[in-house]
Amino acid sequence: MCMLPNGVLVQELTVPGPVGGFAGFTTVTPAGASTTWNLAQLNNLANMAVVLAGSTFHTSDPQVLLRAQTLVIEQLAFHECAHARLPTANEFAANAESIEQMQALGEITPADLQWIGTFTQSLGPQPPQYGGSGAAFWAGTIQLMNASPGPHATLDSRPI
Ligand SMILES: [Zn+2]
Repeated sequence: MCMLPNGVLVQELTVPGPVGGFAGFTTVTPAGASTTWNLAQLNNLANMAVVLAGSTFHTSDPQVLLRAQTLVIEQLAFHECAHARLPTANEFAANAESIEQMQALGEITPADLQWIGTFTQSLGPQPPQYGGSGAAFWAGTIQLMNASPGPHATLDSRPI
């Protein structure tokens, strides 16, 4: 659930697929905002998180794997919510804001942040708006967080 600063809930919709492409995208209009989730790609990312967590933490402990998976999906939800709340179409701004929101709510430890970074960096080639790769996207996210703690709406106030 994502709420705009004016108290209006962001409408959430789902589409069944396909695997690949976007996991979620958010649109903002004067009337409100909506996020569309691609269930197949969300499932794909959730599976990738489990595989990567298993090899990263050298474990098959279901509690560890579930926590790692939950963090990845939760951060995605905060990321889309940040697009709507700021609002911004800038991916780095939305990502930095998502992490700062999770930190402000006490949802992530430094180790959790490191894991989200590990997962993001593992994503490989990405479109230009994400810096071209998972590694560049994460580096830019951290750089932005360090340079100017949120909100980051001033980076890009175009309608999205
Ligand atoms: Zn985004």
